[in-house]
Amino acid sequence: MIGKICNIQPFSIHDGPGIRTVIFMKGCNLRCYWCHNPESQDSKTTIAYYPHKCIGCGECAKVCPNVKDGKAAFFTENCALCGKCADECFAEAIEAIGEELTVEKAVKTIAKDKEIFLRSGGGVTFSGGEPLLQADFVAEVMKGCKAEGIHTAVESAVCVPWENIEKVLPFCDHFICDLKSADSKKHKEATGAGNEKIIENLRKLAMTGKLKEIRTPVIPNFNDTKEDIIKIRDTVRSFVGEINYTLLPFHNMCESKYISQGRVFQAAGLEEPSKEKMEELNLLLK
Ligand code: SF4
Ligand code: SF4
Repeated sequence: MIGKICNIQPFSIHDGPGIRTVIFMKGCNLRCYWCHNPESQDSKTTIAYYPHKCIGCGECAKVCPNVKDGKAAFFTENCALCGKCADECFAEAIEAIGEELTVEKAVKTIAKDKEIFLRSGGGVTFSGGEPLLQADFVAEVMKGCKAEGIHTAVESAVCVPWENIEKVLPFCDHFICDLKSADSKKHKEATGAGNEKIIENLRKLAMTGKLKEIRTPVIPNFNDTKEDIIKIRDTVRSFVGEINYTLLPFHNMCESKYISQGRVFQAAGLEEPSKEKMEELNLLLK
């Protein structure tokens, strides 16, 4: 079985307990306008171009099957996303983001850091993108990791059929999920989907005892008022079990990623929430 991933990041300390290897899966069914990982949204390969690295050698155009006016076709409708230009560019000015990974290779790669996981209380985390859109692959890799005694986690918006969650449940120790708004209409405007399925899944997941953390990204003019956070907090508090609820401030450091992918960052003009603002909102969680 094969999964499509963006990349594998070792030694992460922000994606669950201890030191972790994070597998960023490709493809997401939401389109949050502030998304920090735009390369993970499309399930197909994403081409990124870094003009400051380009030396103008023209080698990319020589191998591009759809060359037009002497230029490689990336960022146009003619681009076949074949990645030949990225393979050819020795200046690394072009990157093809999207790699196919077998279950066996994934488990082997993760297990390399088994000692570090054991010593730090860490493990593997599947993030994205929406990892539960590739639930069969994630479940198989987690199964292999559990056989190696490795702790497993997933970061998900859980806007997926419950059946997808059920596939990974037997092999997943720790769920970290998002709840972006308690208001379904606002949620839909900002992400492309309402929140009903998400809240229903979170409620069911909480009953398994494996839902350890819910996070809300605090986005200016979307969910940054006290009323917004109180509504989300109260929804989280209506779930059973001990769930750590945290707020994550919006940041706009990802704008360069959008530019390199020929896209517009819709949240570019937004200011990051101040320290005082975050302190005020965090007080509501006490
Ligand atoms: S191959 Fe790379 S360095 Fe050469 S023109 Fe293309 S993008 Fe620029
Ligand atoms: S990904 Fe393939 S089709 Fe697209 S610009 Fe590169 S070589 Fe051309």
